[in-house]
Amino acid sequence: MSAKILIIEDELEIVRLVRTYLEQVGYRVLVAYNGSEGLRVARREKPDLIVLDLMLPGMDGLDICRAIRRESDVPIIMLTARVEEVDKLIGLELGADDYITKPFSPRELVARVRAVLRRAQGSLPTVETLTAGDILLNISTHTVTVRGRSVNLTPTEFDLLAALMKHPGRVFTRLQLLDQVQGYAYEGYQRTIDTHIKNLRRKIEANPRKPEYILTVYGVGYKFRESV
Ligand code: CA
Repeated sequence: MSAKILIIEDELEIVRLVRTYLEQVGYRVLVAYNGSEGLRVARREKPDLIVLDLMLPGMDGLDICRAIRRESDVPIIMLTARVEEVDKLIGLELGADDYITKPFSPRELVARVRAVLRRAQGSLPTVETLTAGDILLNISTHTVTVRGRSVNLTPTEFDLLAALMKHPGRVFTRLQLLDQVQGYAYEGYQRTIDTHIKNLRRKIEANPRKPEYILTVYGVGYKFRESV
């Protein structure tokens, strides 16, 4: 069955364009033209991915993103009007999986949707689990348990954790991690990694302020602790 994509955007021309391109490659597309409608549709239809515009009448994209994240790990791609906004959004630690700046080419958006969905659906064919201390990560079922409890991670958080856990002790730069999780790395987006790491620590570390698993290597990046 083809993936269901929800577009939350009030600009009719953008909706028309994005919808056309997504439908052309076989996705089912739902549209909401304002924030509160978007939230309703998201709850009711449980889409596989949400394309969310930042500037919306009523509830804006930030509020929507926060509201969705409180109840779901659905992949979110945010649309913004300006490059500078991306930085601000990253700073807000919304947990969005990708950002696209307007104007964008519809092809670029389709490519990003594909990439994020691929990560969310865990297309890796191997049956593989990674363990470290209290953490069990199952790559084939895309699930993580920590101290015996299952933990919900966004696709980006999952890929980040998997990349780190595969190479305990290896130091990754932010750019390398970005490349691991997105398949491409823009230098301007490096700080997204800090946000995802912070969210990840909150979910897996007993004390996120004193992480035992994901360690900061000052001036370089991050590493997963070596097995003890
Ligand atoms: Ca808009």
